[in-house]
Amino acid sequence: MSEEKKIPYKIYLEENEMPAAWYNVRADMKNKPAPILNPGTLKPVTFEELRGIFCDELCKQELDDTTPYFEIPEEIRNFYKMYRPSPLVRAYCLEKKLGTPAKIYYKFEGNNTSGSHKLNSAIAQAYYAKKQGLKGVTTETGAGQWGTALSMACAYLGIDCQVYMVKCSYEQKPFRREVMRTYGANVTPSPSDTTEVGRKILAEFPGTTGSLGCAISEAVEAAVTQEGYRYVLGSVLSQVLLHQSVIGLETKAAMDKYGIKPDVIIGCAGGGSNLGGLIAPFMGEKLRGEADYRFIAVEPASCPSLTRGKFVYDFCDTGKVCPLAKMYTLGSGFIPAPNHAGGLRYHGMSSVLSQLYHDGYMEAVSVEQTAVFQAAEEFARVEGILPAPESAHAIKAAVDEAVKCRETGEEKTILFGLTGTGYFDLVAYEKYNNGEMTDYIPSDEDLAKGFAGIPKFSGNEI
Ligand SMILES: *Cc1c(COP(=O)(O)O)cnc(C)c1O
Repeated sequence: MSEEKKIPYKIYLEENEMPAAWYNVRADMKNKPAPILNPGTLKPVTFEELRGIFCDELCKQELDDTTPYFEIPEEIRNFYKMYRPSPLVRAYCLEKKLGTPAKIYYKFEGNNTSGSHKLNSAIAQAYYAKKQGLKGVTTETGAGQWGTALSMACAYLGIDCQVYMVKCSYEQKPFRREVMRTYGANVTPSPSDTTEVGRKILAEFPGTTGSLGCAISEAVEAAVTQEGYRYVLGSVLSQVLLHQSVIGLETKAAMDKYGIKPDVIIGCAGGGSNLGGLIAPFMGEKLRGEADYRFIAVEPASCPSLTRGKFVYDFCDTGKVCPLAKMYTLGSGFIPAPNHAGGLRYHGMSSVLSQLYHDGYMEAVSVEQTAVFQAAEEFARVEGILPAPESAHAIKAAVDEAVKCRETGEEKTILFGLTGTGYFDLVAYEKYNNGEMTDYIPSDEDLAKGFAGIPKFSGNEI
């Protein structure tokens, strides 16, 4: 392939399927994701503007939609070796239980202490911060997986880590909080009175249990007001999808080794990073016309950004301090109903995945949380792994596809991303086990409230 000539180093190491470079799917997209905009000027954000918020190297990755491969620095590769390559598992027991002729595979990202794929990007972001000589990084965390992953990465590299944790999770997930503190992170429940934006949100919505969008605003403010700090984000951004491509590259290498070609590739979608990473090299083939695959994004019916959102420029955070991104969104003021336990709470979606979905390269489905937990239970009982509720969205969709194959007799190969373990989600499992879990699907009026907060300017009509 001509691609090989352009790359001055090997994409794969010799000894196993671990890649030595990340793949940037934007390079193969004809319709590039729309540029992120400065909310003040509505002009594309420049490197100079962005570098006040993010580390320099990460700004470059964020703004680069033409370079297909980025070499993975050796120190990051060495860190990856502690828990990668991650297992690619044939779900024989689940296939048998479902009585399906389909072949089901899953790529399991829960084999590290943080328990999810988020560590893949956390170590990269912490590495570039350290390389730039910064003192530390600030971030938000919702359910806590990202904060945990970042604390581990920062502890490994010896830099400071400040985490704003969505208040309801801070209270409901004390164990996550303590893992972060054990790794040396400073954890603050958000909204808090430690930032200007936090105080403003508290005044406007007293008693709020917080949201990811709100915690992002606080973390950004903390980064720009402290010398030697930058902000890092665990999903949504194109740089995060780039780092997560390690999931898809490993999967593809392993499948190629055994001559297996998936027909359907499924992933849960919160901000889009695991899905974007898993599908990256397969999507690249589809975009270049070399192969065809079906891709399915699975989201909760209670936070349905792709299936019911608008494809417009929106704020990435409640405090409206971040650049505007063109994406499928429910509006930055959208907060999922409090009975929603299953993660994937973010109001928007990666602009890369949004564009691919808009252009018809990917499908999306939404699933209700009780059905998601049923799928999680079924999976746990036969495959042995207690899945994260987020991951169980992908399980639910994979099971549905496999059941369809049972009915049609098709021997499809289904691949899904099992993003993490559910050990810290036992409050949600308890609710499910007690029969107290409910499904709340927002009405059109509920969604209209979120859409009303989408910025209005010429060309951005909803
Ligand atoms: C964060 C998380 C997700 C969702 O985030 P994406 O960026 O959409 O991948 C899914 N599963 C687990 C286990 C997570 O921690």
